[in-house]
Amino acid sequence: MQQANMLNEFKLIIGGQLCSGEQGELEIINPATGLTAARCAKASVEQVNQAVSAAKQASKAWQMVSHDERKSILNKIADGIEKHAEMLAELVVLEQGKPLALAQMEVQGAIGWTRYAAAMDLPVEIIEDSEAKRIERHRQPLGVVASITPWNWPLMIAVWHIMPALRAGNVVISKPSEYTPLSTLRLCEIIQQEVPAGVISIVVGAGEIGEALSSHPDVQKVVFTGSTRTGQRIMTGAAQQLKHLTLELGGNDAGIVLPDANIDEIAAKIFNTAFLNAGQTCAALKRLYVHESQYDALSQKLADIANAQIVGDGMESSTTFGPVQNQMQYNKVKALIAEAIEQGAKALSGQQQLPEQGYFIAPTILTEVSESCRVVQEEQFGPVLPILKYTDINDAIARANDSEFGLGGSIWSSDIKAAQVYATQLQCGTVWVNTHAEVLPHAPFGGWKMSGLGAEFGLEGLLENTIGQTLHISKV
Ligand code: ADP
Repeated sequence: MQQANMLNEFKLIIGGQLCSGEQGELEIINPATGLTAARCAKASVEQVNQAVSAAKQASKAWQMVSHDERKSILNKIADGIEKHAEMLAELVVLEQGKPLALAQMEVQGAIGWTRYAAAMDLPVEIIEDSEAKRIERHRQPLGVVASITPWNWPLMIAVWHIMPALRAGNVVISKPSEYTPLSTLRLCEIIQQEVPAGVISIVVGAGEIGEALSSHPDVQKVVFTGSTRTGQRIMTGAAQQLKHLTLELGGNDAGIVLPDANIDEIAAKIFNTAFLNAGQTCAALKRLYVHESQYDALSQKLADIANAQIVGDGMESSTTFGPVQNQMQYNKVKALIAEAIEQGAKALSGQQQLPEQGYFIAPTILTEVSESCRVVQEEQFGPVLPILKYTDINDAIARANDSEFGLGGSIWSSDIKAAQVYATQLQCGTVWVNTHAEVLPHAPFGGWKMSGLGAEFGLEGLLENTIGQTLHISKV
């Protein structure tokens, strides 16, 4: 299959063929302008069914391909992503808005995760090897995996879902966010060049297409990254066939700064983890608890960093801070900030000049915020950080844990031992000390409570793409 030019023809892939959408085309908006940047094929439910049927067919042969061959294919896919790195990064900026340097990091992450998946081995566990019997536990592929992705890190999250699934011997149907399908469409074209027809498919559309795919009886697993509400709907739809699920849902991560922390050293790190991708990151730091002794000083340092950001179009080299991805999210974040200020919060930053068009919000540091404000209680998923004061560390931990979410949390301190003790009291799937939002291909990552089910990355993540099979051999 020929790779199209950057903005030419964004088509679906079904049964190894590029296809137009039976529902016409979707307009993809550039968040830096609010204008249409490209159009792409929009799938019908019938096309989802065709993709599942082609995938099911392809699954039979793909399961039999050797591990070495699949490793080699994944490395060729990584080479393909590398070859098209600049085009992919520019597409991410166009559809998602982040500054080009960050989009380039996203592409490098996609390459790194693909190579990591390529290098992994599926273990065979020897349960018993006696004179009477040998018992082994093997890992088999599940079959057809549906990947449903969000609009914040479109390329990297697609890679997180697709590569371990392929590595383990599954076939994959990708359903990217209707806001940001472009880089995923190109990614699937790159994958299609290396795999047999039906091993990778991509259908584009909104929630109803995601629902048709994730509830389809011939899909054995759904891997989903997005909101808790949609995750719950997917889980309901999966119940009929007891589908396997990996759900990476919302978060409202707290960070706690202990009294002994060196705020000169940590201020920039905290800013970067709270405002990563303009705050549109599931594991970004979203509530900051600072001991009263350093509250004013650290808040001011964070505000100074926020005020120094150059907010603009991600394609401009001077830009350090991009727009919010879509109008709905823009309205939501603006409303959360306005409501907090009405209830007594102070905005220490956010006054810089913004471009006239596009969904721009300056990074906003809020102090004197009441704990009951929605900006503290809900996942803001945008460029605003509420800073809350505490006196007693046990109270700060209780407030951090008083959330329906449990994705990540962090402790910031010069005393690593003490920080570690407090970190393990946080009720969440990842706890960081003196960092936050750092995810790596070899470190399992998954949420507690309403933040998710299962984990991605590392061996644990790979195994979620398999089903266990016990082999019992009698020797007598
Ligand atoms: P976000 O607010 O981050 O966009 P969503 O959960 O709405 O979170 O969307 C994440 C992904 O889930 C998108 O690809 C979206 O189209 C898809 N989606 C939305 N509704 C459903 C649904 N009912 N079933 C399956 N997928 C859905």
